[in-house]
Amino acid sequence: MSLLKPTVAVKNVDDITPALLRSLGTEAILLDVDNTLAPPTSHIPYEGVMEWIEQVRAEGITIVICSNNYYKRVKPFSDSIGLDCVAMSLKPTPFGFIRAKRKFGKKPNSVLVVGDQIYTDVLGANLGGMKSVLLEPRSEEHGWTIKLRRALEKSVRKKTKLLAKGELYVNKKHGYHRRNGH
Ligand SMILES: [Mg+2]
Repeated sequence: MSLLKPTVAVKNVDDITPALLRSLGTEAILLDVDNTLAPPTSHIPYEGVMEWIEQVRAEGITIVICSNNYYKRVKPFSDSIGLDCVAMSLKPTPFGFIRAKRKFGKKPNSVLVVGDQIYTDVLGANLGGMKSVLLEPRSEEHGWTIKLRRALEKSVRKKTKLLAKGELYVNKKHGYHRRNGH
């Protein structure tokens, strides 16, 4: 079960504040796309995403898009928001993360994986010794594979208390504590 637990859970990507990133010792972010930055078929980011990216970059943190979706989906989107990318990343396996990490060469413990799925984003981060932030999916989802994964996520999401709107979950095993004031 611990491999399925994120370091932190928040509602949306722009709830990840510079203060939270500093507390986590983040030097680079591997960022999911679908249901994290934009609806799965859209090239238009959710409200607040572009401002959040600028804010994070101003902190000197490198961001690389890391998505399991196809190159033809991920590359144009990444280009449109000015970020480097790895498509077909095969999360939760380490292959895509290794490809992405080659772009900035940071130690796993200073790399933060941000995404909306436990069985790809969070599991992959934990298997690779990285920290993770789990988000709530923002758009309606279709297809049996994602519905199955969401069903499997339910018990973990209950534990991270994401049901409460905007609540911040912090996994104390990762050495970050809520009393830091976030
Ligand atoms: Mg996603």
